[in-house]
Amino acid sequence: MKGDDMTVEEMYNNEYEFEDDEDDDSDWDPSAVSDHNNVVEIPKWFCINCTWPNIGHDFHCDLCGEHRESGILQRGFLASSLHPAEQGLAQNGADVAVALQDPSLQSIGSDNRTAIGFDERMLLHEEVVQKSHPHPERSDRLRAIAASLAATGIFPGRCYPIPPREITREELLMVHSLENIEAVELTSQVFSSYFTSDTYANQNSARAARLAAGLCFDLAAAIFSGSVKNGFALVRPPGHHAGVKQAMGFCLHNNAAIAALAAQNAGAKKVLIIDWDVHHGNGTQEIFDKNKSVGTMGAEGYCVNVPWSRGGVGDNDYVFAFQQVVLPIVSEFDPDFTIISAGFDAARGDPLGRCDITPSGYAQMTQMCSDLSGGKLLVILEGGYNLRSISSSATAVIKVLLGENPRHSMEQVVIPTKSGLRTVLEVLEVQLNYWPSLKSKLSKLQSDWGLYALHDKKQVKKKKRRAKQLPIWWKLGRKRLLYRLWCKKLS
Ligand SMILES: [Zn+2]
Ligand SMILES: [Zn+2]
Ligand SMILES: [Zn+2]
Repeated sequence: MKGDDMTVEEMYNNEYEFEDDEDDDSDWDPSAVSDHNNVVEIPKWFCINCTWPNIGHDFHCDLCGEHRESGILQRGFLASSLHPAEQGLAQNGADVAVALQDPSLQSIGSDNRTAIGFDERMLLHEEVVQKSHPHPERSDRLRAIAASLAATGIFPGRCYPIPPREITREELLMVHSLENIEAVELTSQVFSSYFTSDTYANQNSARAARLAAGLCFDLAAAIFSGSVKNGFALVRPPGHHAGVKQAMGFCLHNNAAIAALAAQNAGAKKVLIIDWDVHHGNGTQEIFDKNKSVGTMGAEGYCVNVPWSRGGVGDNDYVFAFQQVVLPIVSEFDPDFTIISAGFDAARGDPLGRCDITPSGYAQMTQMCSDLSGGKLLVILEGGYNLRSISSSATAVIKVLLGENPRHSMEQVVIPTKSGLRTVLEVLEVQLNYWPSLKSKLSKLQSDWGLYALHDKKQVKKKKRRAKQLPIWWKLGRKRLLYRLWCKKLS
């Protein structure tokens, strides 16, 4: 798809085209909806689960089916999507209390445990200006995931809470310029500010960003030193769009780059970042770019993209690309620390990504990553805007970190779609120039799957439609990347 190298900012400045995929989705064109609004006064409400603007007296979201008064913020994805799920709350609370008092859990040291990075002050980062549409990067994202983890007894309960800490200016300077640090700091004195039209800050945002970065720094250090087994950073604002100087794309400081630096400080020589958010992690790329980098992050890096060319990508294509492209390259690179920039906006039901990855798909990919770098794995939350999807996906990922195996083993034969297979073959042909070990992989794939890939290679004619009236982030989701890898050798 065109525009793969555009940043969020460039996409914003360009008039971005909405391309329809296989299915006609004109029924969710909101222009028709706002026309009605001009005629009669009809109640309008925004879906708590997906932020979709709903018009009328129906109690269920047009886009995702969530009940208007859903209990998702109390019960996470375990709440019914159809009715407020007040019953069951008491029993669930009791489960969590029992888990916390379980002496077998209390006696376990932190060294064999999965650590979680979380602090409630990150919930205070919110857009204060009332816009026509609620911002998708909202504090309910963390609330919903936390509710799911509590309801399943994972956290609090089975995971070790990393003590929160704000990152220091000196630590930030190893990744960001003074320009970025001071611009973010300044927002704490202003009621409402914007770095770009879609990247807001309030008076609590700078602290939230420093907490997110500090948690990622300490998680990486704790995992690399072996004081915890692995970890999940349940943080916001997200980070992968934040570059050396510029906060953008909902991101203020680059949490993944800071975690890579922390691992380096703790002694890591080769750090791998896998970005499976559907949006291009332009900030991480810029920081890892030798020429623009600051501080100690200037060592040689390597970047691998697996671009995607259509919507609706599902588990099989994701897992297939992971097995055929990501794992062979990563094995040759042989990292000693692995970071996942885990956006869950490729999840089924995400309003921006519009892909089709299930929690089980995310669990399988995490399982494959957990064998890398001796299990030293840090998963950092990036995007993902459907509360139900992100909380079930994050919970599935953390279960794998805790040692629960996903139902499907990674040895299973995954059958990709034809376009999925073609993408993988194309990427392998390019990457062959850099990673010699891919040669045998490519010829095996060509002999196993070649005919399947070439068969039925017809061009589907695409309908195009302007959709200028949509908020910008609905358009950003049109640009898809399956994976982006940074293999970082540190001197
Ligand atoms: Zn909805
Ligand atoms: Zn994203
Ligand atoms: Zn993003």
